[in-house]
Parts: sequence; structure tokens; C-alpha cells
Amino acid sequence: MDAVFLGALDIGGSKIAATIANRSGPLARVTQATIKSGTPDAIARQCLQLLALACERAGIAPNEVSSLGVSSCGPFAVQDQALGLVAPNLCGGLTDSVDLPNDWTYIPLETILRTRYAQVAIENDCIAALTAERHFGAAQNQDNCVYVTWSTGIGFGLCVDGHILRGKHGNAGHAGHMLLSASEDALCGCGNRGDLEALVSGRNLGNQHGQSAADIFSAAHAGEARALAIVHEAARWFGRGLYNLATTLDTQCFLLGGSVWRHHADLLTPIIEAEMMSRFPALIAGITIRSAALDELVADIGALALVMPQEWMADWRLHSPWLNLQTHPVV
Ligand SMILES: [Zn+2]
Repeated sequence: MDAVFLGALDIGGSKIAATIANRSGPLARVTQATIKSGTPDAIARQCLQLLALACERAGIAPNEVSSLGVSSCGPFAVQDQALGLVAPNLCGGLTDSVDLPNDWTYIPLETILRTRYAQVAIENDCIAALTAERHFGAAQNQDNCVYVTWSTGIGFGLCVDGHILRGKHGNAGHAGHMLLSASEDALCGCGNRGDLEALVSGRNLGNQHGQSAADIFSAAHAGEARALAIVHEAARWFGRGLYNLATTLDTQCFLLGGSVWRHHADLLTPIIEAEMMSRFPALIAGITIRSAALDELVADIGALALVMPQEWMADWRLHSPWLNLQTHPVV
């Protein structure tokens, strides 16, 4: 039987978005800053409240939503046969970072969402983004493609031979934590020094160089030598990371998204291409790098796509109904 209304959650380190959709498109979306204190179930409770609010905005009762798709930052862990979050950007008990006012080591998610929704599908945010791009965006008809977000963190969604890779706990694609450098200076939120995210993510570039990534990039655009050197170094590490994945997966196409990429693709593309395309042509020749199409709603659309009936998809591809979506911030 077709679902009449679908719910979607996009759970990130800084905000959570809840969306309600029917066959004609998304009806309402509410967002709120992610709760970082209280009991370990606080975030899952916040998700239920935001979904209820989104239902109110859409003019429907919460029990009319049959299926819920969830895009979340990870990593995930399995406890009592349900998925929960062990994300260092949310769990104060997993990181030395002083800006998290909690001692959580595990956030129960699936168990609590299932108290309200019969069908729940949870995926890592880059896997959800890749799902969205394969159905509705720039990766349609691409069977060997990788979605990459370059933002405050670095994440990947991997598709090989038409299959999106998930792994034993849904954590496939956490390749931002691949170790690249022996440098002790670059520290990732996961605790690694010298992994890809430590070397290039927006947050870690800022931490390493004592000014925000936005300031570094604008100085680089203005031609300032020190900032240009920082950006070149980061883009070279990033290109090396893509090269390593391409040699592992035999990738055809990289789709790039995330705020750092969106704002600076022009500056970054030639450096990344030079770094990866200059190597081992038998494996690298013909790979394309392009921007993801769905932009800031990619995780929300991906979360919906996880539970969307097949027969809705052609309409959504044709009409892009998410383009008119109104977002309501909840304070
Ligand atoms: Zn890391």
C-alpha cells in the first residue's frame, strides 16, 4: 500500500530539519539548532517534536505519517539491534572538545523513533545525499560514483556497480578519517592527527591556522600568498584522498557538495584535478569531477528517497517539487 505522507529528518551537528511530504512534493520543513545537553535521548526526542511541528505546518496529524527516512551525521553503532549515534560532534563523552555540554557516549535514535513510526530507515548523511543525487540529481545513470561533502567535516557516499555501500553498521564512506599525513599539527574531532578531515575540513583549517576557513578562502581569492598556499595544500590533500578512493573503487564520477566546495569550486577544481589526474592513467583516466545538483536540501531529499514509493519518483524527477519548499526555523 502506498504511503500517503512521508517524514524526513536531517540530523546534523549544528541543526536538525524535519520535513513532511506527499506525492506532490514536500509540504513543510522546520529546522532547529541541535540540542547538545540533557539525557542521551534528548536529540531523538527533539526529532519527534520537530516532526510533530512539521505535521502541524503541513496541516496533518502526526499519525498520518507512515514512513520516516533519516539522514544523520555518524558514525553509527548498533545496540540491542537498533542504530544509535556515536558521533564525536554530538557526544561529549567521546571527545576532548570542551564545547559539548554533555557526557554522552551513545545516542539512542532508532529505538525512540520507532516508538512513533512503524517504518524507519536511517542512513549516514552522505549515503542519503548520494541516494538523492542518484534519483533526482547529478548522479542519475551513474553506477560507479562517489558523493563527497567538503564542509565543516568531510564525508563520502560510495556507489559501486549500482550498489550503494553501507558496511556492517552503515558506516561505509567515513573516509574523511583515512590517514594521510604524519603531521601532528592537524587534529580531527575523531582524535586522529593527519587524517583527511584534520587536514582540510572547514573547521580544522580554521583551528589549524587561527582564522576562519571563510577568511582564509576570501584572502586566497584576493591573491594573498599565505592563504593561497593553505588552500593549495588543502586541495592537494583532498585530491590525494579522491585518488585513493578511485584506485580502491574504480570510480567513474565524483559529485562534490558541502559549503566549502559550493563557495570555492572555481579555486579548488584545477588543483584537485592536477593532484589526482597526474597519476596512474590506467586507473584514473576519464574520471569526472562535478558539483552535486541538490545543494542544501540534498540530505532532506535523500532522507525522503529512502522511504519513497517507486511510483512517486518519476514525478519528482520531472517537477523538482522541493524547489518551492518554505523552511520555518523554530527557536
Ligand atoms: Zn578523523
